[in-house]
Amino acid sequence: MTITSRWTAPVPRCSLQQWIFGSACGPLPDRRVLIDPEQPDTNFLTMSNYRLLSKRVALGLQKAGLRAGDRVLIFSNNNLFFPSVFLGVLMAGGIVTGANPTFVPRELAYQLRDSGASFLFVAEHALKTAFEAAAEVGFPRDRIFILGSQGLLAPEVARTSHPQPGVKGRVDGTRHWTELLAGNVSQAEDWSWTEPTDPEQTTCCLNYSSGTTGVPKGVEISHYAYVANGVGVMHIHRLRPDWAEKLKRDRGLCFLPLYHAYGQTYFVANFPHLGVPVYVMPSFDFVKMLEYIQRFRINMLACVPPIIVALAKHPLTKKFDLSSLETVGSGAAPLARELAEEVQKLFPGRELYVRQGWGMTEVTCTCMAWDPMTRIGTSAGVGELLPNFKAKLMSVDGKTPVEKAGEQGELWVTGPTLMSRYWRKPEATKDTIVVDSDGTRWLKTGDIAFIEEYRPGGIFHVVDRVKELIKVKGNQVAPAELEGILLENSDVMDAAVVGVTINGEEMPRAYVVRRPGSKVSEQDVAKWMEGKVTRYKRLKGGVAFTDAIPKNPSGKILRKQLRDRAQKEVGDS
Ligand code: AMP
Repeated sequence: MTITSRWTAPVPRCSLQQWIFGSACGPLPDRRVLIDPEQPDTNFLTMSNYRLLSKRVALGLQKAGLRAGDRVLIFSNNNLFFPSVFLGVLMAGGIVTGANPTFVPRELAYQLRDSGASFLFVAEHALKTAFEAAAEVGFPRDRIFILGSQGLLAPEVARTSHPQPGVKGRVDGTRHWTELLAGNVSQAEDWSWTEPTDPEQTTCCLNYSSGTTGVPKGVEISHYAYVANGVGVMHIHRLRPDWAEKLKRDRGLCFLPLYHAYGQTYFVANFPHLGVPVYVMPSFDFVKMLEYIQRFRINMLACVPPIIVALAKHPLTKKFDLSSLETVGSGAAPLARELAEEVQKLFPGRELYVRQGWGMTEVTCTCMAWDPMTRIGTSAGVGELLPNFKAKLMSVDGKTPVEKAGEQGELWVTGPTLMSRYWRKPEATKDTIVVDSDGTRWLKTGDIAFIEEYRPGGIFHVVDRVKELIKVKGNQVAPAELEGILLENSDVMDAAVVGVTINGEEMPRAYVVRRPGSKVSEQDVAKWMEGKVTRYKRLKGGVAFTDAIPKNPSGKILRKQLRDRAQKEVGDS
């Protein structure tokens, strides 16, 4: 049975930049939308400076040779200029692909090669990794831009033409990103980007996700999908009767990474679209987060569950004045109801809005959330469908729909934010998107869910996964990627990686068949992996030797069997 959202909301057919700014030229409110929390009075971008700077990046990129449809990889932690580089690429007609700045060279090389990026923006601290990856792929140094922010003041960068003082450009053949801005202030003021003729068919982002199976793949998100995501999320916010009043005191704190859809949608697009000030942190830092909430009266937090755990349990939480907080959202992984309640208890006498939503890179980002007017009571659900979405639950073989409330099935969703396809992977696309007889495209999410009641507005609960994906602190870990690396080890004959939950946190655990005669130990294998992947992909759930990897007759790993075994051996009971 199909469930339809309670709401429909019209989605403008325009580019993401058009939706955020409303127009390419002309006046904009003089609100500060992107602010450095360490220098809030001097280092910020107003709405019009944000647009101007993005347009200048676009012009610079076009001059440097960027053509419509070219991919630009951003390999950086957050800074005040990241959103302008992101939108500059879009305004120039390009496609953004973001990579985790903690990646090791082989991980970055994979994404560079797979996306076929023609420009690379790199944080200063990640330059060494970028050089190694570029050398592996044969990526030219003069197409690498250092995305530095140190020593720069945003209002000056946005509005002046001359090279910025203190900028170290041209490190080993690279260029500093501000070189893209040379001499184009007045040109940019009058310049309008070219609107895509069909925003539904024009990709703006390739966010990497392993989906239900295999290695990370570029998820093609169109301008239209991105705008539809913003429209849906805004719709929910506007349901509050005091919405307009609240908007005046709204302040966001961005510590989620901007290379991931969760960070991008909220802090590059939705909040600036509303003119809500966003304080941009380079990365997550718990104590700084508490300090900034207190100092800037932050009232909305977008979190992942480990941050909610820290909020609930860390003794420092009680030492700060967090009374400004009104909503704490959680996504990317399951949030236990008890935790939400613990955080709520920190604010006696008033109900804090601690709620989880559900989303996925393949549907741009958020797809289910709570209507702010619904009292949740004790529900651990992920909310209801955002506007314009439909969902159904299917048996895992995809053949039989689940008809009864409370019964579990694989979640399939459809709506305007669905990815167009996996980048250059038609087979994976075909396995993930099922097209109905009436032409509806359904995304098989690989998540197991149930619904409390079959009615529009019914609350979903996401309870398990049938896909291979492991989530470590909200980050994706693709078992196929780790298995591929393990098989490169000459002591390893076969390997399988599954997720195991230890102390409430999911971690990768490897089952390994040793080559006969090998003396290698479990610890050796775990250690060997450490140098090959970024920290969160390490085998923290341990390595176990086994005689054989359980597989079905066609050679597919029986992951459920291994997951159950892992859970029994080392996981939470
Ligand atoms: P990503 O594409 O990295 O955003 O990961 C999407 C996946 O994260 C989903 O398919 C789920 O497996 C998981 N996920 C996201 N939100 C939740 C949630 N609230 N509860 C349980 N799992 C979630």
